[in-house]
Amino acid sequence: MPQRTFSIIKPDAVRSGHTGAILAAIDQAGFRIVAIKKESISIRQAQGFYAVHKERPFFADLCAFMASGPLVLMVLEKDNAVADLRQLMGATNPANAEEGTIRKRFASSIQENAIHGSDGEDTAAFEIGYWFAGYELI
Ligand code: GDP
Repeated sequence: MPQRTFSIIKPDAVRSGHTGAILAAIDQAGFRIVAIKKESISIRQAQGFYAVHKERPFFADLCAFMASGPLVLMVLEKDNAVADLRQLMGATNPANAEEGTIRKRFASSIQENAIHGSDGEDTAAFEIGYWFAGYELI
């Protein structure tokens, strides 16, 4: 059964010209791009998206970073999409990411780590609904 997940090409990767290479990696891994849009988001929009992290010490920095430039919002679909995207992304800290993963290839720090992917099916449903309207997902 195909499953949907939510992903962001973060501002660091867009800024450094890696959007195309990351999309190619996603495509080669067998994901269907259900929806995609490039946007610049506000700090308030970032705070709402990352609300689960609001008590973490890096919350303010993270939200400022996400609002620091254009990013690419995507809904992706394949069998086992949530887990398979997490594997393709690699560990949060690029220093710990496996060879060949998107974060190993393109991330520069634990914060500026190139890509977001939902960490579970419930999170994916919340995140897709936060950024995309139903009519964009047909
Ligand atoms: P993810 O699921 O791998 O993206 O990681 P988390 O859900 O734990 O964290 C969300 C995002 O917050 C990460 O992707 C990073 O951009 C950022 N982040 C996580 N841990 C740290 C940290 O220790 N310091 C800073 N500055 N940012 C962090």
